[in-house]
Amino acid sequence: MDNHHKLIVVGSGPAGLTAALYAARANLAPFVIEGFEAGGQLMLTSEVENYPGFVDGIMGPDLMDTFRKQSERFGAIYLTDDATDVSFDSHPFVVKVGDDTFTSEAVIVATGASSLMLGLENERRLLGRGVSTCATCDGAFYKEAELIVVGGGDSALEEALFLTRFASAIKVVHRRDQLRASKIMQDRAMEHPKISFVWNSLVKDVLGDQKVSGVLLENTLTGDRSELAAGGLFVAIGHKPNTSLFSGKLETDAAGYLVTGSELKNDPNPSSGYQSRTNVEGVFAAGDAVDHTYRQAVTAAGMGCMAAIDAERWLESRGH
Ligand code: NAP
Repeated sequence: MDNHHKLIVVGSGPAGLTAALYAARANLAPFVIEGFEAGGQLMLTSEVENYPGFVDGIMGPDLMDTFRKQSERFGAIYLTDDATDVSFDSHPFVVKVGDDTFTSEAVIVATGASSLMLGLENERRLLGRGVSTCATCDGAFYKEAELIVVGGGDSALEEALFLTRFASAIKVVHRRDQLRASKIMQDRAMEHPKISFVWNSLVKDVLGDQKVSGVLLENTLTGDRSELAAGGLFVAIGHKPNTSLFSGKLETDAAGYLVTGSELKNDPNPSSGYQSRTNVEGVFAAGDAVDHTYRQAVTAAGMGCMAAIDAERWLESRGH
């Protein structure tokens, strides 16, 4: 395997794979370090109905497989392994994968984000079969269902409010008796006739054989345990960007998301116009590692496209 590349893409969700497609069609033969958990968060989803182009929907893993094959058709090269270290201090850039060292003229970081999970064995087992981390993605599958949302922040209330479009009733289970969410979201949720709250409660287990049938709750004040029936469980206790590899090497915000474009505090080239630029010239970033607002497959793909076009133009400006 050739160790020097014009462009290395780190990550293989919708952002990384779209960056790979655009870069491949620009004859950059991108080298994609796709990670052991290739495909990103869509690999944990079942049916995707909101990705344009698929009238009848498509399974998340199939969508990612299609993206990957499309980019390979134009010359993207894949390594199924995790990047373990990067050095952006000098040029060409260095990306390490275990004992192997790869170098490149430009890098696109698209390592995505992960939903925080409760860490229960049955939560993992029933993911995509009643356990979800994305109401926008999965809410429409729960028409007239009774649902549980776990969490007390803005995400939890946003998920609960979105689910009111489909579900008959939503119980928000929170481990304290005070919400962390903003006042406006609290007001909206409290006023909604379909939403009620279960306070001071921890989800100790997810119940159900082939699909979710409810949860086991533990009251944090009394220790009492009880079962709560539900057709689905939405876990909304926060996200974390997968950016630890870039800590101290790329600018991040307080929550660890990569900062790009005009948001940069330390911007080496403010007039460049490359919206996906990071604070290191030649390193671009896209997808959920950057975006904590929209977090959709289609927005990540759009960002991947932007990063590839930025990288291509930047490389061209340097004679590559
Ligand atoms: P967050 O604010 O960190 O809230 C996470 C919630 O989950 C907290 O209520 C926390 O409980 C609970 N939690 C954490 N770990 C838990 C566990 N293991 N078991 C049970 N509960 C657990 O995260 P977020 O709601 O994703 O919001 C992140 C940021 O994005 C915030 O700044 C938020 O304002 C913003 N956001 C804004 C909007 C909007 O404006 N529409 C929408 C989504 C997110 P405790 O409260 O007890 O810690």
